[in-house]
Amino acid sequence: MAVETTQMRKFLNDPAMVVKESLAGLAAAHSDLLRYDVANQIIVRKDAPKKGKVALISGGGSGHEPLHGGFVGRGMLDAACPGEVFTSPVPGQMLAATKAVDGGAGVVHIVKNYTGDVLNFKLAAEDAADEGIKVTSVVIDDDVAVQDSLYTAGRRGVGATVLAEKIAGAAAETGGDLAKVTDAVKHVNDRARTFGVALSSCIPPANGKAIFDLPEGEIEFGIGIHGEPGRRRAKLGRASEVVDVMVEAVLSDLKAKHGAKVLVFVNGMGGTPLLELYLIFTRRRCGGASDLTLIVEKVMDAATITSWMHEIDRSVRAERDHLVQLDAAIGDGDHGTNMVRGFEAVVQALDADTGSPPGRLLIVAGRTLVSTVGGASGPLWGSALRSGGRVLGDEKTFDGAQLAEVLAAALASVKDLGTASLGDKTMVDALEPAVETLRSRIAAGEPVPQAVDEAASAAEAGMRSTIPLQARKGRASYLGERSVGHQDPGATSTALILRALQRAVTSQS
Ligand code: ADP
Ligand code: MG
Repeated sequence: MAVETTQMRKFLNDPAMVVKESLAGLAAAHSDLLRYDVANQIIVRKDAPKKGKVALISGGGSGHEPLHGGFVGRGMLDAACPGEVFTSPVPGQMLAATKAVDGGAGVVHIVKNYTGDVLNFKLAAEDAADEGIKVTSVVIDDDVAVQDSLYTAGRRGVGATVLAEKIAGAAAETGGDLAKVTDAVKHVNDRARTFGVALSSCIPPANGKAIFDLPEGEIEFGIGIHGEPGRRRAKLGRASEVVDVMVEAVLSDLKAKHGAKVLVFVNGMGGTPLLELYLIFTRRRCGGASDLTLIVEKVMDAATITSWMHEIDRSVRAERDHLVQLDAAIGDGDHGTNMVRGFEAVVQALDADTGSPPGRLLIVAGRTLVSTVGGASGPLWGSALRSGGRVLGDEKTFDGAQLAEVLAAALASVKDLGTASLGDKTMVDALEPAVETLRSRIAAGEPVPQAVDEAASAAEAGMRSTIPLQARKGRASYLGERSVGHQDPGATSTALILRALQRAVTSQS
């Protein structure tokens, strides 16, 4: 049976039963992942409680599906507490959910900033604590549109909730403790900003009427998920113009630096078709409304390594004669040809590879250098890449922190094998400052391309610093004081290798 009022045409049986029936359907459709506790009106992960795992719970009024029941499962929520449509759940639901999922390591409540949700979750957390369960709560308040709204003191909690559930859910799944998982939720919330728009009102099933009127041809900017008033109404323009307004609202509040990486999350709160949402997503690289460039956060992978090796190949070819001259001055004049021969073989080997993870590609590259280059630089850079590759194991992707560890392992291996220290006028003088810079910039939260750019600059400064030094390692050390006044060839190619990495990670963003 369907139900029709003057305004509403929906699939319904009994408007009073819409949430319960829908939850029963959710559980029926995904019985492999979750179960529906009818008495407590909660959705619980099928394998909960998981002993020793921190559990995550969220909840709120229904009508925002798939929030939150649809996000119960491995790596996300352990339970969801759905209230009636647009109505907060009650503490009993949250307490039941907390007890159902507590595996002894504690439970995190992810609460969207609506007064009802905040109050009810607060009581539930107190009840859970009385029962000896460790509970932490984080309130999500990401919506930049309005300060206080109809249902909220402060900013409303919206889409960042989904990202928090996903990111903190992964932290919990991989063994993070209660503090770490809680911090992950806070971290996501601190850095997230959202902005909503509406083309028409929704019609809650219980009263069957639109909750606001939006005249024909108009759009409301900054609306809340319950249709709370936003900032202003305007004539509906092209999608790209709407997106520019939204992006500007988000970015001006976020105060993102030029070139900063962001994770773009477009969602329709369950109401807008995917066809239109993807159309909106194409506009994510937005230079229009502001002079900021959005770059979608992308993890690095095998393609990054292949691209890095190609960049090195191009660069050592272009600089071959220069490297030869530098090496002729304080060595035997073969460094340029050595590097070109080695990286030619590396790109051939990597281009022939089908589907190895990034760590394996680095190991292949290292082995290829060892077997084709000879001299001092062959085994040194060869073992450097091999050691770097081992850091990544068989993981398919890696992030900035892992990249810093790859280079740190490479440096350790060069120093171990060649026994050179900083100031001995070798490649170490370029590599060591690069590694230190990369590590500290990534730890400070800088975007990867920017951090690698600074690491490459540090390598270049290190390269120049070799000019006044007297060589204490390698062939050049035989010259004694006569090595002073010349730039070290190995430090020079190392700076090229770091600059090549910067191009590889930047072009991939
Ligand atoms: P070779 O010196 O055998 O001809 P290359 O000319 O290809 O090899 O490489 C020379 C570079 O190798 C030097 O400029 C220096 O940076 C680096 N190098 C040589 N010995 C060492 C060492 N023990 N530790 C670190 N780097 C070294
Ligand atoms: Mg040489």
